[in-house]
Parts: sequence; structure tokens; C-alpha cells
Amino acid sequence: MDETRVAVRCDDCPFAATYDRLRDARTAVDDHESSTGHSVDWEIESLDAGVSRAGADAGVCGRPECANEDSPLVDPEPPDQES
Ligand SMILES: [Zn+2]
Repeated sequence: MDETRVAVRCDDCPFAATYDRLRDARTAVDDHESSTGHSVDWEIESLDAGVSRAGADAGVCGRPECANEDSPLVDPEPPDQES
């Protein structure tokens, strides 16, 4: 479906936008984060809840805390299992 809308909002500045394509949103997020070092939040607004969940699970930041906000694994530092 083409009804996907992605709302992007920066936590550290007034930057905010809405995109019709996931690719456009991701590009904007990556560009803003890489150029400013800010932490950008993004939310998929879609008629299909499954798409939103898949996007959230995939994560856009590549960081553990962004991959799944519902996960208990919110600590960016993985536990040391060696000892
Ligand atoms: Zn920003």
C-alpha cells in the first residue's frame, strides 16, 4: 500500500517533517543525525499495523535502544557475558 506516512521529529531541535515514503524519511533521519549528531525520532503512521511494527523492529538508527523501544534491552551497552 502507498498509504504509509512517516513522521520524523528531532529530540534535540525543532526539526520535524512528514514523508510519504519510508526511504525518504530514513534518508532525512540519517542525514540529520550524521550532520548534527542529534537523536531523531521517527514514527510510521500506516493503516497496516504490521508495517509499523516491522519498521520499529528494524530500527532506523542502528542502535539497540532504537531497534525496539518496547524491549527491556534499553541499555545501549550490552552486558558482558564473559564473566
Ligand atoms: Zn536536530
